[in-house]
Amino acid sequence: QAKAAGRNQVFVYNETLSRAREEELELLSGLRDGLRYGQIIPFYQPRVSAEDGSIIGMEALARWKHPKLGMVPPSTFIPLAEKAGLINQIGTIVLEQAVEQREQWMRNGIDLTISVNLSLRQLCETGFSDVVEACLNRHSCPPERLELELTETLFSESDPLVQENLNRIRALGVRIAIDDFGTGYSNIARLNELAVDCIKIDRSLVSQLPKNEEMVRLVISMCKLMQVTIVAEGIENETVAEWARSHGVQELQGYLYGAPLPAACAEKLARNSNLQFSKIDVDNNRFV
Ligand code: C2E
Ligand code: MG
Ligand code: MG
Ligand code: MG
Repeated sequence: QAKAAGRNQVFVYNETLSRAREEELELLSGLRDGLRYGQIIPFYQPRVSAEDGSIIGMEALARWKHPKLGMVPPSTFIPLAEKAGLINQIGTIVLEQAVEQREQWMRNGIDLTISVNLSLRQLCETGFSDVVEACLNRHSCPPERLELELTETLFSESDPLVQENLNRIRALGVRIAIDDFGTGYSNIARLNELAVDCIKIDRSLVSQLPKNEEMVRLVISMCKLMQVTIVAEGIENETVAEWARSHGVQELQGYLYGAPLPAACAEKLARNSNLQFSKIDVDNNRFV
């Protein structure tokens, strides 16, 4: 009897595994369709000046507008896309749409810096810097109005192609930011060598303020030595915002100033920072 139960358990386990695999394959084929039918779109989250709270930029954050599942978050499809070799395609789509949107906003009288997240794989691609340059040209984007965000995984990367792409992108005048700073294992020497323009302190550090202020002070001192722009991510309340402001953080980002929003909402917010769009119903694209 015990043997039968054991066998049964093994059976259940396999069943679960294959179902997970099946679901992943289904999601993947959906993602391929999604790419084909333009379902990958960026949302935009404001980045504000610590000095006066004005919106100085927008970060493009990928969303998958799935016909049945609704708005699929990047935590679901970005890792899948990385695994399946689709991340470069997604990255290019987001870059193109974001830079085009910036141009549209510019025409509407709003001059913003646009930030786009990169996967390391994009930097491993020959000619990626040409893709960036062509995109800037197509949309008359001044290079300093584009910032590319990279995570610390970059530090362990020794691929010469990565360095070459980075050098070329920097030579164009595009800004480079280190995203999620404080979550990985930073190689300070490498960070200095990369000559980044901006460091974004990760939400996991920011959200614990002021409890962990000693550590964040240290990060800020290091950023000041390196003369990079300091951004705090994940600001959700005024207490944390005030701490950041009074300790030399230059730019703030988080739900307190706005969640990632559809382009039209982001534009309204940029026109009128007093609007509260953080509780927007993003699935239905409703303005709240
Ligand atoms: P990220 O670049 O660090 O983006 C910040 C994430 O934190 C976003 O999640 C944003 O919605 C969330 N966030 C912002 N402010 C707050 C806050 O005050 N509180 C809380 N709890 N969360 C906040 P999202 O949009 O789900 O994106 C997750 C990650 O997916 C991004 O982290 C980025 O690493 C990645 N990602 C998004 N779009 C792209 C893309 O186009 N390409 C690549 N390679 N990665 C992307
Ligand atoms: Mg980012
Ligand atoms: Mg981040
Ligand atoms: Mg983060």
